[in-house]
Amino acid sequence: MLAAYEGYEGAVPEVGGLAETQMTNPQKEAMRHAFTVETEPMKTLRGDLLRRVSVARCPFCGISESSTLDHYLPKEQYPEFSVFPKNLIPSCAVCNTRKRDRVLDGGTNVRMFLHPCYDLVPDMAFLVVRVRMEANALLLSYRLVQPAGMALQMFQHLRSHFNELNLADRYRLMGLEHLAGQYPAFCRAYGGSRNAGRVVEKLNEGAEDFEDVFGPNFWLAQLYRALAGNADFCDGGFEAVRPQTM
Ligand SMILES: [Zn+2]
Repeated sequence: MLAAYEGYEGAVPEVGGLAETQMTNPQKEAMRHAFTVETEPMKTLRGDLLRRVSVARCPFCGISESSTLDHYLPKEQYPEFSVFPKNLIPSCAVCNTRKRDRVLDGGTNVRMFLHPCYDLVPDMAFLVVRVRMEANALLLSYRLVQPAGMALQMFQHLRSHFNELNLADRYRLMGLEHLAGQYPAFCRAYGGSRNAGRVVEKLNEGAEDFEDVFGPNFWLAQLYRALAGNADFCDGGFEAVRPQTM
């Protein structure tokens, strides 16, 4: 087992091609069982991993609460990493479910998902949001663009992660939900004097704060930037995000 753990640490982040450790079926079962059953050591490990503030928000999507532990290498195929802490990623139920037991893309042999502990995501902006106002409705669409200077393989990896976790749809929906909560703040900034410039300022400040803390590709940072650049939205178009109940 120790050799398998060392192999994992030696290979990160490219753990997708790791050879499976030779084990008998009862041994494999025992390893999977160790994760599933609520033994004291496992309860402690689970608690320790899920209690960290830095991963309270799911590191796969950046949207939801981490409520599960995902096996980056699935325990069905790799029972030896069933309780290996570095293979256990606090994640939300949506990401965990969408990821399932997949590791490598069958076609390209490229890893389908980022390993939150080990994949270094370049500090360049690759997430963009297109904002449109149409018939007083706000339309958002998220996509990835390959920045100049980013290797194609890195971009393909990011795109696979983005597509397979359905992040475009999830960011759009949660973005609209988030903006509904910001509606009173937009009204306050705009004020009786209909000051679109103050709305722009508020959005840019919010974007900067998000970027400082979560980096340039945080879904809300890019949303705020895009909205700040949309004159219609800032000049009263934010009425489109007024919560239904208000
Ligand atoms: Zn998630």
